[in-house]
Amino acid sequence: MGKDCCADEHQTLLPIEEAISQLNSAAKTISRTQTLKLQEARSRILATDLCSPLNVPPHDNSAMDGYAVNSNDLASEGEIKRPISQRINAGATGHTPLLPGSVARIFTGAPIPPQADAVIMQEQSRREGDHVFLQGPVEQGRNIRRAGEDIAQNDIILNKGHVLTPQRLGLAASIGQEWVEVYARPKVAILCTGDELVNPGTDLLPGQIYNSNRFTMRALLEALGCEVLDMGIVRDTHEATRTALVDAADQADLVVTSGGVSVGEEDHVRNVIEELGQLDLWRLNIKPGKPLAFGSYHDTPVIGLPGNPVSVFVTFAIIARPFILKMKGASDLRTPTLQAIAGFDWPKAQKRREFLRVRLDENGHLTSYPHQGSGVLRSVAWADGLAIARENQTFAKGDLVDYLPFKGLLG
Ligand code: AMP
Ligand code: MG
Repeated sequence: MGKDCCADEHQTLLPIEEAISQLNSAAKTISRTQTLKLQEARSRILATDLCSPLNVPPHDNSAMDGYAVNSNDLASEGEIKRPISQRINAGATGHTPLLPGSVARIFTGAPIPPQADAVIMQEQSRREGDHVFLQGPVEQGRNIRRAGEDIAQNDIILNKGHVLTPQRLGLAASIGQEWVEVYARPKVAILCTGDELVNPGTDLLPGQIYNSNRFTMRALLEALGCEVLDMGIVRDTHEATRTALVDAADQADLVVTSGGVSVGEEDHVRNVIEELGQLDLWRLNIKPGKPLAFGSYHDTPVIGLPGNPVSVFVTFAIIARPFILKMKGASDLRTPTLQAIAGFDWPKAQKRREFLRVRLDENGHLTSYPHQGSGVLRSVAWADGLAIARENQTFAKGDLVDYLPFKGLLG
C-alpha cells in the first residue's frame, strides 16, 4: 500500500543544496580511463595533469612582419636608413647574428637573430632596394614574443578533471601532446515507468500517452557525455520494476528512472529500491519536481526522477547533473548561473524554490512562459533558460534575478 498523500504533504521539504551535497558525497568518479588521440578527445575529461616538456613559444620570435633591429643602433630620433643584411622566414633556424649597423627582414613567428632585440613593423618602414628607412628610437623588446611567455617548461597547463574544450585541445597540442588520458564515459541505464506510456511509432489507445521522458533523458545524458543503455518502458508492477532495476543496475554505472516515485500505490520505484538496497526518498523544496529518489543496488547508484516531463528536465539539470559530472571525473560541478532583469513580477512568496521557464531578450530582460505547469513540455521547449524564484522571495519587474541558461546546463 502506498502512503497517504495528504499526511505526506506536512513533511518538511529538503533544501536543494542539501540534496546536491548529499549526492555529491555519494558520487564516485569512474575508475576506468582511456587513452585517446587528441582529435578524439573533445569534451572528454582529463584523468591526469598535463605538464609541459617545453617552452611555448620555444624561442624568441617576431610578433610582426617587419625588420629585426638592434635598439642601440636605432637610438637617435627621426628617420634612419639601414641595409638589409638577411631575411628570416617563420620556420628558419635564425642563428646568423645580425650584422652591426644592419637590419634583418623578418616575418611573423620567425626567430629573432642573435644581436637583434626589437622588431619594427613593416607598416612603419619604407623600403628602397636592399635598404630600408625606419623611425628611431626603438625600445628594446618591441614586437618580440619571448620564449616561454605562454607556457614555461614544467608548467602544469591543465589539471585532472578539466573538460577538454576546443581551446584546451589547442593548448594541449601546443606542448606536443598527441595522446591524452581521459575518464571513460559513464554507462547510464534509463528506464521509464508507467502503464500509460507508449513510444512514438505506435498508435495511442485510450488512456495512453507518448513516452517523452525517454527522449529528454537520453539526450540530456548524451549531452553530458554518457553512454546510454535504454531499458525501455517498465510497467507499473512491483515485479516488472524489480526485474528492470536489477537488470539495469547490473549493466550500468548509474540508473536513472522516471516516474513512480510519488506516494501513490502504483509508484513502485521507491519500494523496489528500498527493498533491494538503500533508499533516500526526498521531498525537495523545488518546483517543478518535488519527489526524488536516490538509492543504490549492489553499489550502482539509482536516481529516481519524477514522472512529469518538466520536472524530469528541471530535476535532472539541477540535481542529477552535478552528480553525473562528478561521476565523469569533472572538477567543476557548478550550475552555471547568471543574473538577468526580470520582465515580470513575482509578487507572492512561495515555500518552494521555483525554476521558471524563461527567455532572455537582447536587452537582458526575461520573459516567462505563460503556462508554468509541470506537465507543459512546451514551456521548456520554448525557453532558453530557467529563472530562479527562491523560497520566500518576491521580486518585481526590473529586479535582477538568477538565470540559468540551458546552454550551460547541457554539457
Ligand atoms: P508519476 O510520477 O509516475 O505519477 O507520473 C507523473 C505524471 O507524469 C503522470 O501524469 C504521468 O503520466 C507523466 N509521465 C510519467 N512518465 C512519463 C513519460 N515517460 N513521458 C511522459 N509523461 C510521463
Ligand atoms: Mg507513473
